[in-house]
Order: sequence, then structure tokens, then C-alpha cells
Amino acid sequence: MKYLQFALRNNELVSIYDVSNGLACDCVCPECGATLIARQGSNRTYHFAHYKSEECEKGIETALHLLGKRIVEQTKRLFVPRIPGIEKSVGKVTEYDEAIEEKRIDGSIKPDVQLRARMNLWGAGLVLNVEIRVSHAVDDAKKYKLLELGIPTVEIDLSNISTDYTEESIEQLILCGKNTKWIYSPRAKQYFIEEWLCDIKVSKLKYGKYYWVEYCPLNEYKTVYGRWWGELKCHDCGCADAISPVKILKCMGKLKGIDLEGIEKIEKIVRERGLLKSVDLVVNGEKLHREFCTYPIFKGNELIYDSEYGKF
Ligand SMILES: [Zn+2]
Repeated sequence: MKYLQFALRNNELVSIYDVSNGLACDCVCPECGATLIARQGSNRTYHFAHYKSEECEKGIETALHLLGKRIVEQTKRLFVPRIPGIEKSVGKVTEYDEAIEEKRIDGSIKPDVQLRARMNLWGAGLVLNVEIRVSHAVDDAKKYKLLELGIPTVEIDLSNISTDYTEESIEQLILCGKNTKWIYSPRAKQYFIEEWLCDIKVSKLKYGKYYWVEYCPLNEYKTVYGRWWGELKCHDCGCADAISPVKILKCMGKLKGIDLEGIEKIEKIVRERGLLKSVDLVVNGEKLHREFCTYPIFKGNELIYDSEYGKF
């Protein structure tokens, strides 16, 4: 069984071992704000209990989240893993000069902690966003924002740690880096794009330096210059998307779990938009003549139709 072992006293996170027993602990629940009573009996593990109110489900999670944040803020030290996709990158314990609290960070991205190092000899300052995970992972919308802003971000996953954790054990975990991974590094942009959109096919077309969406079967997205707008929408949409190193987004008409109905839907749309072409196919020895769209179609990760190569 899990116990609440950290609570808030005057807005500061305190351990059950650093407070007075009973109501004299003067603590509230980090999640619901209810008054807590410290139970420091000899029979059971020391813990906080809600006083005259129901135990709330998320109290323990929230306390762990605050604890992880506080350790990073205070030590300004963590193991930063090697950046995937960068050959010469190595993981190491890195120390920063300053930790910026969540509420002091400007802009639409609010990491749990932002670490900053002063300018080095080459005049470059280092910034690292740190997310502490206790339940939800960083969502896709946030990932795209990171991509747009180019902010290096790591996640420390505390969601599955053993329940008998202490402040020291969490600090050790943060320093050994076992549960730390990169969410995004601008040094490996292409790697992360591919990681997120694992079934993308890189378009061979080069249209220049603009972002854009074309051939959207839903006919909803227009060409948009210089923004990630299209990519976000397409990701949510569930249709196929492809992105090239030159920032082209090309809808390939993939529908999630496509079936005959899905293919017919795409056929109908492309017919209306004049994108169809006639194709002679041989399937299982049988000759078929079909009209088909001029871009690839996927079923899950499997390419089932590619006009460029004539595969089916
Ligand atoms: Zn509570």
C-alpha cells in the first residue's frame, strides 16, 4: 500500500519525518489542499492522513511530482542521456547554474523545471527543460511546440518507481539517469520527427523551405507558409502525413486502419479533385482495372498502394 509521505507546509514540501506528530504537523495535502494529520505511530510506516476528509487519490502522485521538481530545482544537477541519433553524443551528469520555476517561464511551454547554464567560452548559453512524469507523458501537442521552439527537453519518469522511495533514492535516480530520456533535442530534429511519426514516408518532392499540406482527402487544410499548423492538424486527423527535411507535409491519404470503405472514400475524394488516374493491376493472377489516386496509401505501416512504384 502506498502512503502519503510528503505534504505542504506554508507551501513548502516537507517529509513526514520532518514534522511534528498529529495535527501539529500543520500540513495540507499537495493535491486537494485539505488539512492533514501526521501519523507517526510505532506500528505502521509514518504517513500523512487526510483529517476529517476522504483520502484523495492523486495526493501521492502530486507529492512525488513536487518532490522530483524540488530535487532538480535545488541540486540543478541531473544525468543527461546521450542524444539519440547523434553519433558523438555521450550521456553524463550535468550541472547547471540556475533553475527557473515553472511560473517564471514565459511563453506557451511551461516545463516543470527549466535549467540554465551561463554562457560558455563560445558564447552559447545552455537551456534544458525538464519534465517530471508521474502519470501522463508529454503529449503530442507539446512535442510539436517544442519542435517549433527548438527547446531541448528531457523527461524523468517517476511513474513506476517503488513505493518505498525517499528523497535520497529519487535524487540518486535522477543522477544515474536510469529513468531519464530525451523528449526532444534540436540537435537531432529529424530523428525525433521520425520517432513521433513512426510510419511516415519522407517525401522525395522538394518544394522549397515552406511547410505545407496538400492532397488532404478531407479537403480541410490549405497551404500554409512557414508554420507547423498543418502538421498538428494532420496528426490529430489520423490521415497520412509525411514530412521531409525541407519541411513539406504531404497528406498521403492514409486513414487509420484503412479498409475497402476507406479506400473508396479516398477514391471518391480524389476523383472529385481530378487526382485520379487509371491503373491496370494484376492481383492474384487476375487482371483488374481501377482508377486510383496518385499518392501512396497505407494500411497501418504497410504500403498497400504506391503510384510512384506501381506497387499494390
Ligand atoms: Zn488530498
